[in-house]
Amino acid sequence: MMKIQQNISLKPYNTFSIDRKARFFVAVQSLEDLNELTPLPEFGLSKMILGGGSNILLTKDFDGIVVKNSIKGIEVINEDDDNVWLKVNAGENWHELVMHCIENGWGGIENLSLIPGQAGAAPMQNIGAYGVELKDVFESLDAWHIERGQIETFNKEECRFGYRESVFKKEKKDKYIILSIVLRLSKKPGINTSYGVIEQVLKERGIENPGIREVSDAVISIRQSKLPDPAKIGNAGSFFKNPEVSKEVFLKVKSQFEDVPSYPIDENTVKIPAGWLIEKAGWKGRTFDNYGVHAHQALVLVNYGGADGNAIKQLAFDIKADIEFKFGIELTPEVNII
Ligand SMILES: Cc1cc2nc3c(=O)[nH]c(=O)nc-3n(C[C@H](O)[C@H](O)[C@H](O)COP(=O)(O)OP(=O)(O)OC[C@H]3O[C@@H](n4cnc5c(N)ncnc54)[C@H](O)[C@@H]3O)c2cc1C
Repeated sequence: MMKIQQNISLKPYNTFSIDRKARFFVAVQSLEDLNELTPLPEFGLSKMILGGGSNILLTKDFDGIVVKNSIKGIEVINEDDDNVWLKVNAGENWHELVMHCIENGWGGIENLSLIPGQAGAAPMQNIGAYGVELKDVFESLDAWHIERGQIETFNKEECRFGYRESVFKKEKKDKYIILSIVLRLSKKPGINTSYGVIEQVLKERGIENPGIREVSDAVISIRQSKLPDPAKIGNAGSFFKNPEVSKEVFLKVKSQFEDVPSYPIDENTVKIPAGWLIEKAGWKGRTFDNYGVHAHQALVLVNYGGADGNAIKQLAFDIKADIEFKFGIELTPEVNII
């Protein structure tokens, strides 16, 4: 039986550890819970669908109902000699899912080890890391249309995945509750070490024929050495996306800063690491009272304890304006500011 709570702090429910309140809060554990919830007057208020809260910045109390998707379950729905199709309910923890796949020898998401949050949020921004994105293994998802009160299925094309993008962050924003995702994983996995740093760690460890477990272990240690642990310092990972700029803009930056790193997207576009721009502009490690820019990773804004979401939002805007002024490049937040 689900319980609707009132006026509760959302601090334990967001990795930034921002202490804002929700007027109503409910965790749904099943489809039955959702069916029970939707006719209630509370559900008629504005809604915030929540997973693990690792990609949000709360700037105000939420005067509506927060619906935390806690529907669990992982099921093999199909398999052949080469692949397994896994249906994963939205409330499953993403990293535990990755570990479950590795235990079973199913490859495809090992490079996405240790990304916080839940499986249901993974399609929202097409999570990605170390040369792999969700879309590489994604087959379909089931989502509850909030107004129509019915389940709809989206295939990969319909999700319109892009770099940290999907249709659910654009025209279908706030219209659906993602219930489950289907992934196709390989029973005969190859590995992806296209990111040099993975190769480097494997080499340091003397591993010559790495499998998915070794790749996952390498990714975990790289992430632990670079990113602050939200359990210790509040943060939501990369605050901004890496900007994709025209060759012309890139060459202009390069004429001033010979060392600017870049990754080609197509003939006319390159991606520049936002963290490099922020660091170059002098923001890395800057601390203001109880929040700031992380000392080791300029792309991560942090709450050292008790910071207000608005202060962090203002810092993000100040950084954005400064990067625009100094490099003529516009940064877009990756984190959902609420
Ligand atoms: C230390 C750290 C490192 C990170 N590294 C990465 C990384 O390498 N790559 C990467 O891509 N991301 C990264 N992230 C960001 C984050 O972990 C991912 O975006 C993750 O998928 C968010 O999951 P969540 O369950 O916490 O989502 P939440 O923060 O709860 O929600 C995010 C958005 O999705 C919506 N949402 C959540 N669940 C549902 C649902 N079931 N139905 C409909 N809407 C929903 C919410 O309304 C919100 O708009 C990192 C974050 C942290 C803190």
